[in-house]
Amino acid sequence: MPANKRRRVLFAILALLLIAALFSPSEKVYPLLNPDPWENIPITVYIDDRNVPAHYSPSYRVQVERALEYWSSGGNGKLGYTPEFEIVEEDNADILIMWVENLQKDAGVPEGVAGFARPYEVNGRYERVEIVLEVGNYQGYSWRQYGDANMREIAKHEIGHALGLGHSNDRKDIMFPTYDQKDDINPLLVQKTLPLIIAGILLSLALVFYHGGGWLHSRKKREKLEEEILGRKEK
Ligand SMILES: [Zn+2]
Repeated sequence: MPANKRRRVLFAILALLLIAALFSPSEKVYPLLNPDPWENIPITVYIDDRNVPAHYSPSYRVQVERALEYWSSGGNGKLGYTPEFEIVEEDNADILIMWVENLQKDAGVPEGVAGFARPYEVNGRYERVEIVLEVGNYQGYSWRQYGDANMREIAKHEIGHALGLGHSNDRKDIMFPTYDQKDDINPLLVQKTLPLIIAGILLSLALVFYHGGGWLHSRKKREKLEEEILGRKEK
């Protein structure tokens, strides 16, 4: 292939690469479902560790307390306000946190959902939010209990919803839908990595093309040189 044609093809591939890079959804978003959901300061929280399922661990309450501390000391930095919490022992609190054995079985939610936050909104403000967490889930046929670290992350995520945050597309952010909507991960992942996969394919094509073409070209040149130097040996 002539060098100028090869260069043109290479340009076309690089242009496609640029387009793939430009249209990849790389921008990170941290949507607010409600920018200012709470009128009440401090926000009262009732952690129901009395009506608990069979596999509840007393250390889960501590994880919820740590998750509350996470948000009151800044959280992921995406809240427009700093929440203050007061843990109370009455179930008419602003935020009610409770556990069930398995959400799929006990609340009829889709498989893979580890927790949810249900806000009751009145005039654009949250009147109260119910957070339901499961203590474990089924992996195949075997049931596995969540460890403390896992429970803390699930609680952080759900409390984030109770504070007005929506889902982020930032995989490193606590509001990435890893814990409450596990079945959402795959489409998101594909959406995020597809342009990268396409870019990778195009790049390797470009490399193969350039080097492959170059190699062909130099082989022809070498043959020509050999011909010139050695003369027409065999014919
Ligand atoms: Zn969520």
